[in-house]
Amino acid sequence: SKELAGNKYQFYTKDMDDHSIENVKIENALYKALSKDEFHIYYQPQMDAVQEEVVGVEALIRWEHPTMGMISPGEFIPIAEETGLIIPIGEWVLRQACQQIMEWKRQGYACLSVSVNLSARQFKQRNLVAIVKETLEETGIDPECLELELTENIIIQNTDDTIKTMRDLKSLGIKISIDDFGTGYSSLGYLKNFPISTLKIDKSFVHDVMENENNEAITHTIITLAHNLNLRVIAEGVETKEQLDFLVAKECDYLQGYYFSKPIDAATFKKKYLQRESS
Ligand code: C2E
Ligand code: CA
Ligand code: CA
Ligand code: CA
Repeated sequence: SKELAGNKYQFYTKDMDDHSIENVKIENALYKALSKDEFHIYYQPQMDAVQEEVVGVEALIRWEHPTMGMISPGEFIPIAEETGLIIPIGEWVLRQACQQIMEWKRQGYACLSVSVNLSARQFKQRNLVAIVKETLEETGIDPECLELELTENIIIQNTDDTIKTMRDLKSLGIKISIDDFGTGYSSLGYLKNFPISTLKIDKSFVHDVMENENNEAITHTIITLAHNLNLRVIAEGVETKEQLDFLVAKECDYLQGYYFSKPIDAATFKKKYLQRESS
């Protein structure tokens, strides 16, 4: 048994570093987080580049665990993906975000569009289209006001199934955008095969667009070619006035980033961005 204990010890030190122990803790807590009501949604405004008015929001999940505190989506979303928990969590985000948009509409504010992130696992789920349809019907949100954000690695798997799912989603009347655009390997050429309405330029390009000539060229190229394909372009991660001016000069359609606002809770969003219209 001494040997066994030795093995066990070795197992933990060698194969399980602090990082994976942390991941196991997160995984265990993740199973209970939905029923314990530990998730919230933050909203980040998406601005029209010319008017600098809010046209939409991106819904971003937040998890506050009672003892571990705030756990960032960058940390727990991959674990939720791996375990399949992203399916119920993703459905919750979708419904919650649509309900919030409807609530603001009922309160008399102009209807905003909402972008909801969809993970690869969700996208591959057989009943995805049925779930989105059901959510639209249950919440009463105008389908045009819902945009699903897919990452490039989803559409890169350029299979018949992928295209069919995207077409079925599109036929519900909703919009589809490609998130983190430029980080994968998709070429703009084959994008025209997909029913996409928006490209979202990854924040890594926007970040040093002023200092890095390559990123400047990439950003400009994405905007120009997207417009040639009749797509709208949104830049994420806009933090400075210089980045904003550059993007506006290059005719980027929409902007999102800390320059305008960090993601904020629904009450704060309403106070900051919706109040004025009601009075
Ligand atoms: P993402 O979809 O690319 O979201 C953009 C991330 O950039 C968000 O981080 C946002 O808070 C952050 N951000 C926004 N503006 C700026 C800026 O000006 N500068 C910088 N440095 N960052 C900015 P967040 O909320 O931590 O989310 C991280 C990732 O987690 C998201 O990346 C998305 O992939 C995933 N995620 C978040 N919520 C959900 C969700 O409900 N479902 C799924 N499947 N994934 C989600
Ligand atoms: Ca996103
Ligand atoms: Ca992104
Ligand atoms: Ca991302």
